[in-house]
Amino acid sequence: MGGTFDPLHHGHLVAASEVADRFDLQRVIFCPSGAPWHKTTPTTSAEDRYLMTVIATAADPRFEVSRVDIDRDGPTYTVDTLRDLHEGFARAHPHDSAEWFFITGADALTEIVGWHDPDGIIERAHLVGVTRPGHQLADPGLPEGVVTLIEIPALSISSSDIRQRVSEGKPIDYLVPEGVARWIRKHRLYADRQHSGGAS
Ligand code: NAP
Repeated sequence: MGGTFDPLHHGHLVAASEVADRFDLQRVIFCPSGAPWHKTTPTTSAEDRYLMTVIATAADPRFEVSRVDIDRDGPTYTVDTLRDLHEGFARAHPHDSAEWFFITGADALTEIVGWHDPDGIIERAHLVGVTRPGHQLADPGLPEGVVTLIEIPALSISSSDIRQRVSEGKPIDYLVPEGVARWIRKHRLYADRQHSGGAS
C-alpha cells in the first residue's frame, strides 16, 4: 500500500483491511513515500511519516511497514517500490511465489499513465484504487482488468483535512490512531504550517 501518509489515518487502515479481506491477502505492506516527486508543497519528514505508520499499524498482524521508499535516494517511483519489494521477497522466500497488489488512492492512480514506466508497474502488480463512495473517478486509461476500484466509506477522512484541523487547533481524536495523535502533538507536526488546501 503506497501513500505519503502525512499522516496515516483510520481511512487508510480501513482501506487496507477491506482490500486484504476482498483479495484474501496475507500481508499488507505499507510503503510511505520517500520524496514524492510530484508534490509542490513540503511534506513532513520521511522519518516522521514512517514512524507514524509503524505506530498506527503495530497492533495488526497482517500489516507491516517497509522502508524501501524511505531508504532509496531520489524521487519515489512506484515501479522501484515494486521491484524492491519483489526482490526482498525472493531473497527471503527463494522457494515461494506471491501474487502482488498495489493499493493506493484512486485519485492518485488516475495519473498512472503519466508515471515512470507504467508497463513495469502493471507487470508487477494488480492495481487497487480505493476511494470514498460517490466520488467520480477519471478513467486512468489502462487496459481492462489491471485495476480494481473499491469504495471505502472511511475514506471521507483525509490527511489534508487532518493537517488543516491541527493547524487550526481543532481535535483529531478518532480520525487517527491515538498513538499517531500523540506523535503529532509531541513533535508539533502541522501546528505551525500554513495549510495549502489541496489534496495531500
Ligand atoms: P496523493 O496525490 O497525495 O493522494 C491523492 C489522493 O489519494 C488523496 O486523496 C489521498 O488521500 C489518497 N491516497 C493516497 N494514498 C492512499 C492510500 N494508500 N489509501 C487511501 N487513499 C490514499 O498521493 P500520494 O500519496 O503522493 O501517492 C500515492 C502512491 O502513488 C504513492 O505510493 C506514490 O509513491 C505513488 N505515486 C507514484 C508515482 C510514480 O511512480 N511516478 C507518481 C505519483 C504517485 P490522503 O491524503 O488522505 O492519503
